[in-house]
Parts: sequence; C-alpha cells; structure tokens
Amino acid sequence: MIYDYCIIGGGIVGLATAMALLERQPGASLLILEKEASLARHQTGHNSGVIHAGIYYAPGSLKADLCKRGAEATKAFCSEHQITFDVCGKLLVASTPLEVQRMHALYERSQQNGLKVERLDAAELQRREPNIVGLGGLFLDATGIVDYKQVCQAMARVIQAAGGEVQLSTTVRAIVESGDDVTISSDDKVWRARQLVACAGLQSDRLAALAGVKIDHQIIPFRGEYFRLPASKNDIVNHLIYPIPDPELPFLGVHLTRMIDGSVTVGPNAVLGLGRENYKKFSVNWRD
Ligand SMILES: Cc1cc2nc3c(=O)[nH]c(=O)nc-3n(C[C@H](O)[C@H](O)[C@H](O)COP(=O)(O)OP(=O)(O)OC[C@H]3O[C@@H](n4cnc5c(N)ncnc54)[C@H](O)[C@@H]3O)c2cc1C
Repeated sequence: MIYDYCIIGGGIVGLATAMALLERQPGASLLILEKEASLARHQTGHNSGVIHAGIYYAPGSLKADLCKRGAEATKAFCSEHQITFDVCGKLLVASTPLEVQRMHALYERSQQNGLKVERLDAAELQRREPNIVGLGGLFLDATGIVDYKQVCQAMARVIQAAGGEVQLSTTVRAIVESGDDVTISSDDKVWRARQLVACAGLQSDRLAALAGVKIDHQIIPFRGEYFRLPASKNDIVNHLIYPIPDPELPFLGVHLTRMIDGSVTVGPNAVLGLGRENYKKFSVNWRD
C-alpha cells in the first residue's frame, strides 16, 4: 500500500498537520509515525500550557496572524471536545522605567495587531494583583491555559475517526525519495507514501539530514527549568504574570503560570542542556 501522506512526529505540529490534511482531503490515507510510546512526550508535553494571544509579533506578519487565529481555533477545538481550558488573562508587568517605555511600544504593537489590551498604572496593577509590585502593566484578557497533552489526545481521536493511522513506538531511521514516492523505514518496518511531512521538533535537523535535505542550521539543546509553588500558594496570582520582554532575547522571560490543574509554576529559564530530550538536570546524551 502507498499512503497519500506520512507524517513523522506525534507532537502538536504533526497532529495539527494531519488534521488539516484530512479536513482538506477527506478519505486520504495518512500515517503518523511517533517514536515514543505516547503522544506529546517532548516539547508539546513540557511547555507552559499557555494559549498565547499573539501580542509579541510584528503587525502584519504571518506569526501575528497565525497566533491570533490559532488561539481562537484552540479554544473552539477545546470547547467542541470538552477539554478544560481557562481564559484567565495575562498581565505583562513593567518593573523598571526602561520596561515602562517598552510596555508602551508593546501596547502600540498590540493595537496594530487588533488585540484587546488594557494599560494599567501601578495602583490598578496592585488592585488586580495584590501580590505583584510593578510600575504598570498590560492586561490581555484573551490569553488562556490548557493541557496540550489532552489537546493532542483529542486530535489523535479526530485523525483516527477520519481514517488516519497513528503508529507509536516507531522511530524513523531512513527516508529515501524517488521520483514518485518516498520510502520510510524504522528498525523493522517499511512504508511508502506519496508525500512526507516531517514534524520532528527537536530532531528536525536530523530528519532533514536523513532525507538528504541540505540545511544550514542545527538544534542545540537548551532546557527550560520550572519550579512549582507549594499548593498553599496556588492563589498567589489571579492571572498569568509575565515580564515585559527584552527585545534582545529570544525568550518570553520567566513567568508565573497558573496551570490548568490549579498549580502555579515559575519558569522557564534557559540553560544549555546536555541532551535534546533529557529532562533531568545531569543526564547526558553524548551524541547531542
Ligand atoms: C519551555 C517551553 C515552553 C513553551 N511554552 C509554550 C506555551 O505555553 N504555549 C505554546 O503555545 N507554546 C509553548 N512552547 C512552544 C511549543 O511547546 C512548541 O512550539 C510545540 O510543542 C512544538 O511542537 P512539535 O510538534 O513541533 O514538537 P514536539 O512536541 O517536540 O514533537 C516532535 C515529535 O517528533 C517525534 N520524533 C522525533 N524524531 C522522530 C523520529 N525519528 N521518528 C519518529 N518520531 C520522531 C518526537 O518524539 C516528538 O514527539 C514552549 C516551548 C518550550 C521549549
């Protein structure tokens, strides 16, 4: 059998791609190959669980548009599939005069992006978040939280109901393209597909190399570490609390995140990791 589509990776990008393909082409044959024993075991299952509203992105950019539409689609999907999510809102807090300047620039950007954002002074900030001190803040009411593992499980059910197959515990080891199709091999199985989409996240450069695609970048492992507050502090904040981002850094900054299970995490930092998929501090993967 030759599949119409083969997708490598059972994270949210692979699953969303599969769902979109089956929606556009009902009846297409589609296979997802995932190396782990369950879905969303890497980035998708280790993130902050935030449904971002898209305040950071350059107005008019594809990212700004996708983030806004993606947030709406995520909430609609969760409602349709009875997945708990909470639109708890996000507060970006300025703690220095420089951050106040950046905050105003970010506000202008948010207006160009068509987002509903409130500017708060220090007194209003204190009223809404008695445990947070700052010179001012921006409040976005559209930001939410969800458990992306649950979202992925529901997506897999949609894919399977549309005839797609999900094969877990299957590591792709070889990709050979011919003029007509592509042959994909694991340690003990071989598949053929007319089109292949690799959504391999942290391994994407290696998958590209397997397929003979020349790329000029490489994944360097960085780990984001989170602390979890003791349960007695679960009510310490009412919203998600973020800093005003530093435009020099590619990170959103350490945030206080209310998780969908009621707990509050503080993080992530970004430390050079000793393995791409190593989540414990001192575990090492020499190849990585
Ligand atoms: C610390 C951190 C916090 C974040 N917080 C948020 C947030 O709050 N909100 C948000 O929207 N985004 C957040 N993100 C970003 C988001 O998590 C990622 O953009 C998203 O999960 C990427 O999904 P993915 O499917 O590309 O990758 P992954 O989830 O990593 O999936 C890739 C999959 O490919 C599989 N794979 C790899 N190689 C092979 C192979 N050879 N054969 C078979 N399968 C293979 C892997 O096992 C994995 O399951 C965060 C990211 C980080 C790092």
